[in-house]
Amino acid sequence: MFFRLLSGILLSLLTFQGQAQAQTSACISRTQVQSVSEPFQFFPATLIPQADLCDPQTDSYKLVSILLALKNLRLDEAPLDNRYDQKILGSDFWGYLKERVQTISKSSPEASSCQNGAMAYVEGEANSTLFLCPLYFTDTYYSLYGKASILLHEARHTEGYPHTMCLAGNKVGSTGGCDETIEDRGSYAVSTEALAKILFRGKNVPPTERAKLKIHLLESLESFNEPVNGVGNTALYLQDVDGKGAYFFDGLKLYSAKKFDRAQIVSRYVNLQVVPKNGMKAFSWEVLQSQSTFAPAAGACAKAYNDVSAAKRSPLLEVIDDGIYFACVYENHLSARLGYEMTEDVIIKLPKKIKAVFTSDEVKDSERDSYYAISVDNEFYRMRFGENGKVTISKVADPTGGFKHLFFFNSDLTGLTNQGVLLKLDFESNQWVPFPALRDRYFKSSTRPFLWSSDFQGF
Ligand SMILES: [Zn+2]
Repeated sequence: MFFRLLSGILLSLLTFQGQAQAQTSACISRTQVQSVSEPFQFFPATLIPQADLCDPQTDSYKLVSILLALKNLRLDEAPLDNRYDQKILGSDFWGYLKERVQTISKSSPEASSCQNGAMAYVEGEANSTLFLCPLYFTDTYYSLYGKASILLHEARHTEGYPHTMCLAGNKVGSTGGCDETIEDRGSYAVSTEALAKILFRGKNVPPTERAKLKIHLLESLESFNEPVNGVGNTALYLQDVDGKGAYFFDGLKLYSAKKFDRAQIVSRYVNLQVVPKNGMKAFSWEVLQSQSTFAPAAGACAKAYNDVSAAKRSPLLEVIDDGIYFACVYENHLSARLGYEMTEDVIIKLPKKIKAVFTSDEVKDSERDSYYAISVDNEFYRMRFGENGKVTISKVADPTGGFKHLFFFNSDLTGLTNQGVLLKLDFESNQWVPFPALRDRYFKSSTRPFLWSSDFQGF
């Protein structure tokens, strides 16, 4: 079973979709269609007509394109020297699929296995029929090779390898959304190996696909209860307190990063938004690209910020997009939602200018119904969401315990103290502990975590 990522994370990624789709599509010849349909039976048989395919909007065209990408994929045979390569697939992905799957069947939209974001499934063990849900065809988030990797994931299920409950990370609590370890060599190990080999060893993979493969790979790594790299798949952007340096920090090591002198950096899961302090428009810093590049601002908050005329812009301080919490934090107000049911943001104005905002979870408020703000003159406010999204504001004592920033990083509550020290709350001792790599280092700011891996440095 393969589920598409749901929740706010997906919403915040929507801007990434346009890039791969702009390419012009040519007809797929009948000969090409035959070359990929010959090994399989299709249900209904009309899913793959033996004819030239010229309409990219049809399910036939989409599926044949994915199968062709897999069949024509050329990989350098050198194995990867890391845990991504569990040596399940070899270099002939097409052969792997053909050996395990006999029938590719379109599932009915009503099938219970296609609910809640499922894209594909097989029924029980030793069943060589692969079912594709309607979402597999309509989804525009997964790239061509991303969807090809889903076929390989399902092919692994034909040999067994069921999933288990996710115990940590972005997918925590998802039943059947994870495997225990990558060494179990289950379906997520296949997803990971496929994505990593296409990314790092693919010889004929277009650059637009590579950019998305990095994201798919990092997301795939979220699907193991034991972290594959020893750390999570995210990083923070830290700036030295003296303004001299800036870094990516993955929890283990600091990596030098580009420094911005007069800009606020806010993160939103896949990349960073740079908000210049001179009132110019915000833009995206795409840190997963081989050479970090700049692009128009992405994500609802930065776009809304840019839509306001320069004279009326209130500085965008932060984007919160974490489970039930979604908020654009500006210097003089919040535009925020709380809970998955809310569809419209509430504008919350505070009596003082805002310095930073925290969620209930970050200040360990178990009611989970509030945001908390520090004002520039160090007063604290609670913004509590009641019935119908009505918000009550009250002044409170410091709920942070002396932190200027708090967020969850690699599943740990992590914070930057007012002195500039980055600490995490140790799960077992319930004590704040330093990161060994950051001894004697002081930072003036940290973003919330965004998807990143040192494996992509220079790649
Ligand atoms: Zn699965």
